Amino acid sequence: MYDNILVPTDGSECANAAVDHALTLADRFDATLHALYVVDVRATHHSAPELGMERVRESLEAQGREATGDVAAQARERGVNTVEAVEEGTPEDVIEEYVDTHDVDVVVMGTHGRTGLDRFLLGSVTERVVRTADVPVLTVSGAKSE
Ligand code: ATP
Ligand code: MN
Repeated sequence: MYDNILVPTDGSECANAAVDHALTLADRFDATLHALYVVDVRATHHSAPELGMERVRESLEAQGREATGDVAAQARERGVNTVEAVEEGTPEDVIEEYVDTHDVDVVVMGTHGRTGLDRFLLGSVTERVVRTADVPVLTVSGAKSE
């Protein structure tokens, strides 16, 4: 049923909860797990313009390699196949493009991310992907009360 599972991660705790769930699914369905981090240069540049685009890009890329590498390490431990991807752009757009170009069957993502404002039901990236993706989107809450 599922051959390719996509878990977009921003390295946050809530995304890690989604990674856990995605690993279980991938294991159960013998699917390939794709870990995708999107380098959102413009959003970060906007909040810290003094850093300069190039430095922001480099630091986000490093963060992305760490986050996706971490998923891959956990997958290896469980014998799950993984693909690591770090791409630049607007997260929801890159995620949807990735779904289309990599035959993704299901997306597993956190309800929240690095911002994690509880007064919103869903973070903005997840909300947009849920609304517009052509495949099912499984949202995982990283709430500590769970
Ligand atoms: P907001 O960004 O709207 O202020 P937030 O950070 O709490 O709020 P989202 O950014 O929507 O919420 O994060 C929800 C989920 O979306 C994360 O758990 C992760 O799965 C995914 N996600 C968010 N940003 C990225 C990114 N840059 N690259 C890959 N996945 C991401
Ligand atoms: Mn976010």
